Amino acid sequence: MSTIATVNPATGETLKTYEAMGEEEIERRLQLAEATFRTYRTTSFAERARLMDRAAALLDEDQDEIARVMTTEMGKPVKQARAEAAKCAKAMRWYAEHAEELLADEEPAQSDVTDSGASRALVRYRPLGPVLAVMPWNFPLWQVIRFAAPALMAGNVGLLKHASNVPQTALYLEDLFHRAGFTEGCFQTLLIGSGAVDDILRDERVKAATLTGSEPAGRAVASTAGEMIKKTVLELGGSDPYVVMPSADLDRAARVAVTARVQNNGQSCIAAKRFIVHADVYDAFAERFVAGMEALKSGDPMQEDTDVGPLSSERGRADLEELVDDARRGGAQVLCGGRRPDWPGWYYPPTVLAGITREMRIHREEAFGPVATLYRAADLDEAVLIANDSPFGLSSNVWTRDEAEVDRFVRDLEAGAVYVNGMTASHPALPFGGVKRSGYGRELSGHGIREFCNITTVWHG
Ligand code: NAP
Repeated sequence: MSTIATVNPATGETLKTYEAMGEEEIERRLQLAEATFRTYRTTSFAERARLMDRAAALLDEDQDEIARVMTTEMGKPVKQARAEAAKCAKAMRWYAEHAEELLADEEPAQSDVTDSGASRALVRYRPLGPVLAVMPWNFPLWQVIRFAAPALMAGNVGLLKHASNVPQTALYLEDLFHRAGFTEGCFQTLLIGSGAVDDILRDERVKAATLTGSEPAGRAVASTAGEMIKKTVLELGGSDPYVVMPSADLDRAARVAVTARVQNNGQSCIAAKRFIVHADVYDAFAERFVAGMEALKSGDPMQEDTDVGPLSSERGRADLEELVDDARRGGAQVLCGGRRPDWPGWYYPPTVLAGITREMRIHREEAFGPVATLYRAADLDEAVLIANDSPFGLSSNVWTRDEAEVDRFVRDLEAGAVYVNGMTASHPALPFGGVKRSGYGRELSGHGIREFCNITTVWHG
């Protein structure tokens, strides 16, 4: 059973421990969610938008404070934490502005309406009810907001089970929505360990679930939801390819590659992790990339000029070290990094590995930290083969100025997104999600808001 606590990854110090909510409190909150939904579902888009805009304004006001809380709880550089808070406010405003049009009634073609025997027919998007969100610590505000903003704008109510190491951020989110004027049951945080999720998911009052996190957690939640015939969206791990072809702007490709790998201390599902480089430019790219990784400033995440802070937990660092050690034993070359520093906190240096083989664990598993793997590809066909040789399929990045190559990558890469000459970054207007073992369903955009709607056919005789 996980302890619910704030433990500073920069020092290893436990700062605050929380008691998990008991059965009675959970029951009270489930009742409140159900009762609130009955009335909240009838509110207008204009009213929901007013509250959402208010929440965004409050978040902007709180930006510095909540950024420091996030950094203290999970170690991301504080400037990145502020950017995360700003991005959340933007997504809240985007859904406040667009939800009504995204969920507007749809009318089929009149000929089809007549053919169905109707005088009139339409499709209406109605809310489902209380939705359980099981969320990870890596973007502790953003992962929740990208669920909560569309869910609340659609007329659903939210129950958040956040990761056990970010309780202060979890409580802040509940407070934020209350202060904005959402009634108490619209958005509630359940301070519980992962062992308590199953019973809640089985409760009839919970209508659906979304989970962002690891494969085992996704499998557990999806199995129970499947048994209960409840809709789920799963956003799991990724090991995104970053393909560099000879026509690419190499300086820019290498510079962006560094950011794409080490953003959020390397702990992002959509971080580029496998760098697949055409043989003609392999050496030139590798030299630039390694120099960029070596130039990063690691250290205290509260310092404004820090690029890479500690990993979020001791376990997380140990898992990453095991992947690097396994690759080293298998013959991989360590081009930089590869050894933990001997200062306190759960730091791991930016690391580049080359000479990766299919037998190495890091070829198939997600490296959740600042460790990059380099592959040499003879041509485009081999680059696609290596890119797709992964159980994951979240996003992908390709660097080329050749339009025919772009077409091939967009046709053939097994991923939920293809970013051409840039790094993957989520945006409220663009669907986000994966294929293969990266999960299913989509967040953000119109696709995201419709995931937790009852798509209702209305037929008039
Ligand atoms: P995790 O264990 O999957 O945690 C994510 C959320 O799921 C947390 O709220 C966690 O609660 C909960 N959870 C864990 N096991 C569960 C279960 N059996 N049933 C219901 N809920 C469960 O992820 P993690 O340990 O933080 O990170 C491990 C790996 O997950 C990473 O190495 C990475 O591969 C992946 N990950 C992916 C993303 C992403 O954005 N795609 C984000 C984070 C992690 P507790 O905190 O209470 O355990």
